[in-house]
Amino acid sequence: MIISVASGKGGTGKTLVATSLALSLKGKGKVQLLDCDVEEPNAHIFLRSTTNQSRPLSIPVPKVDETKCTYCGKCAEVCAYNAIAVIKQKVLVFPELCHGCGACSYLCPESAISEEGREIGVVETGSLENIEFIQGRLAIGETMAPPIIREVKRHIDSTKEVIIDVSPGTSCPVIEAVKDSDFCLLVTEPTPFGLNDLALAVEVTRKLGISCGVVINRVGVGDEKVESYCHEQGIPILLKIPLARDIATLYSKGIPLIEGKPEWHNTFLKLFQHIKEIVTANQVMKPTDWQEVAIDGETHVKRIKDLYQELGFEVRLEEVKPEEAEQCTKCYQERGEKIYRIYMRRKREASK
Ligand code: SF4
Ligand code: SF4
Repeated sequence: MIISVASGKGGTGKTLVATSLALSLKGKGKVQLLDCDVEEPNAHIFLRSTTNQSRPLSIPVPKVDETKCTYCGKCAEVCAYNAIAVIKQKVLVFPELCHGCGACSYLCPESAISEEGREIGVVETGSLENIEFIQGRLAIGETMAPPIIREVKRHIDSTKEVIIDVSPGTSCPVIEAVKDSDFCLLVTEPTPFGLNDLALAVEVTRKLGISCGVVINRVGVGDEKVESYCHEQGIPILLKIPLARDIATLYSKGIPLIEGKPEWHNTFLKLFQHIKEIVTANQVMKPTDWQEVAIDGETHVKRIKDLYQELGFEVRLEEVKPEEAEQCTKCYQERGEKIYRIYMRRKREASK
């Protein structure tokens, strides 16, 4: 299972959650922690893993042979990133804007463009007991994060539990890191900024068709609006971490939460189990098919409804007469309860 840990806003405690989740699984099987926050990877500080391999990563950028060039301008026309320009009798290449897509060299009618590698960062691998750790590190001054993230994700082993630490925000690096996840955990804080950026991040996961749940960190610092938003949107709040001086102290010293406060170990294990249940249920359910799950009296219906909604499903109730229930309804009738057929389906937004 691949779980990405993202946040619309920086500084919400995303790495604290990602590393605690990975460390809580240490004794449970094989785990990979991928730090895809390649502009500022810091999961290694909490993991204290040893790096045993560092591999430079280059992208191909164009090199123009002006003895062959006719200055037709086709290369500049095709470049979506304005990384190549033809000005009169001169071709200018801006390597820092080039995404290495190869379109200009492929389409040059004179075969005047060859490619040369330009180093943009490194991919490092290491381990801590049964946690395999992979991180990307963008070179100083470079902006091309997606190729490094792709390279980090190439190490994903689908037989392991994979936790991805994503960079904050909602731009290309976030999309590159989150896509293909089974679940996205969004870490936020209960402030107006937290809410604003959470809503943007939720939109991204919906566009990508990835189920999400929320972790609210520093509970107590702001207001209840993040919780209200999650309830309105049917997004499960999977964990709340209080605003506490001792947690902040551990974080500032680079000590993982579950190491400094072992009582949190089970909390993170439960968080993982909860996510697993959601992912399993999503895999079983077709996106828009209503499925009958139970017939029950009104006393139990509310509890069942809340449970499924918390797991990210829509629930529909249909009142039935006792003779339509096709099961014994004696006790419901004795208690004078209404009887409902309960249907559920995966939310449409999550399947877009
Ligand atoms: S497409 Fe080729 S020939 Fe045309 S301007 Fe670019 S490099 Fe020169
Ligand atoms: S390789 Fe792609 S991004 Fe780079 S200059 Fe050529 S067309 Fe533009």
